[in-house]
Amino acid sequence: MKLTFLGTGTSQGVPVIGCQCEVCRSNDRRDKRLRTSAMVEIGESRFVIDAGPDFRYQMLREGVNRLDAILLTHMHKDHTAGIDDVRAFNFVDYPTIHTMHIYGNEATIKRIEMEYDYAFAQNKYRGVPVIELHTINEAHPFEVNGISIVPIIGEHSERFRSVGYRFGDLAYLTDFSAIAAEEEAKLEGVKVLVINSLRWEKHDSHLSVEEALEIINRVKPERAYLTHMSHGIGLHAEAEKRLPKGVQFAYDGLQVEL
Ligand SMILES: [Zn+2]
Ligand SMILES: [Zn+2]
Ligand SMILES: [Zn+2]
Repeated sequence: MKLTFLGTGTSQGVPVIGCQCEVCRSNDRRDKRLRTSAMVEIGESRFVIDAGPDFRYQMLREGVNRLDAILLTHMHKDHTAGIDDVRAFNFVDYPTIHTMHIYGNEATIKRIEMEYDYAFAQNKYRGVPVIELHTINEAHPFEVNGISIVPIIGEHSERFRSVGYRFGDLAYLTDFSAIAAEEEAKLEGVKVLVINSLRWEKHDSHLSVEEALEIINRVKPERAYLTHMSHGIGLHAEAEKRLPKGVQFAYDGLQVEL
């Protein structure tokens, strides 16, 4: 199994437009964070978790020409705004058309149907995305290409849930602000845990570094990676020194084999 971090930045990305802070002016490539997304490859199957506004560039950068499915964590634009670009995958072998399979919970799938209504219209305009939506029941594992995926529910804010995904030894959680004990129990035994941490200070809809570390301490994975960072984390090279052993800030392009 291989995990590739496609983007590790919060909704605005890093650098932030117009910001003159030292992180946004840094030349370290680890301080340049596209919107949060990751690719998981298991055998011949290739999944992407979330398709935000940087999806097109992320696919080009990693040289991806085929995707089996996109798993959405929640409906926020920084995780869904790139979905129109699945057209490239639909038509890559034209006249054979590859349908893109998109998975998410009920609220997310309903929103995608609304926002991309032209893709689901009766009389479709030629060349619109070819998508098949799959509503998952967050309470139960589901299968894609024979691979079992366990949804893990997190609280994002009072109005939103975010869904994390576990693939065997790997779990990927983003846009959590809290996790209930029964959901955390589904992480037992993971070797690699990816979890969001926005910044050092507390925030009402995203975990801080300290809060993410508390969850990591309880779950005890072999390795943990933090993602969905803002420029408030500071320079990567400085910030990483503040993390305990076995935990690191992810950065765009980082690959993890397991
Ligand atoms: Zn987000
Ligand atoms: Zn900045
Ligand atoms: Zn969000």
